[in-house]
Amino acid sequence: MTGIPDIPVHLVGRPRAGGLVVPWITPATRDGGLYLFGKIGNLAQYRCLTRSLCQVCGRRLGVRAVLFARESDLLHQCTAEPAVCPPCAAYSRRACPMLAGRRHRYRAGDHPGLAGTPIAADQVLRQAAPVERWYAVWIRDYDVVDHPAQPGTLTASWQRIPPLRIRPLAATA
Ligand SMILES: [Zn+2]
Repeated sequence: MTGIPDIPVHLVGRPRAGGLVVPWITPATRDGGLYLFGKIGNLAQYRCLTRSLCQVCGRRLGVRAVLFARESDLLHQCTAEPAVCPPCAAYSRRACPMLAGRRHRYRAGDHPGLAGTPIAADQVLRQAAPVERWYAVWIRDYDVVDHPAQPGTLTASWQRIPPLRIRPLAATA
């Protein structure tokens, strides 16, 4: 396993870093020179959630989509991670170190490129914490709601619209 999966056709035009496709939602540093993998730009997150866009390719979601959720997200039936289209979900499961179970802890410190940028409370809480198990929540639609435990954090919720299925991803340990 090289850890660098083939790029699906619909993502060939996207920028890459280290052989991996840079998701549509991933912010770059102010000078544009560095992509901040694992970060979500607030405006991009808002656009994805409210316009039903895939967070990886940036295209409008179709009849089915996937929300990648942590174990703790299942409790609240929502996640701050916008949905992805099925082809991007298949790619992300192989390419994203978190989803593929190749990283066992969150980054201990924040990215130097983000110096001076406020980070979300839930990110502070997760720093250096052991990685939780991830699930693929297959959905037809979602509601955009405020996170019940973290007011001010927008999420995609499947509480009102039952998901098609919820599957655990490969174990991380
Ligand atoms: Zn996509």
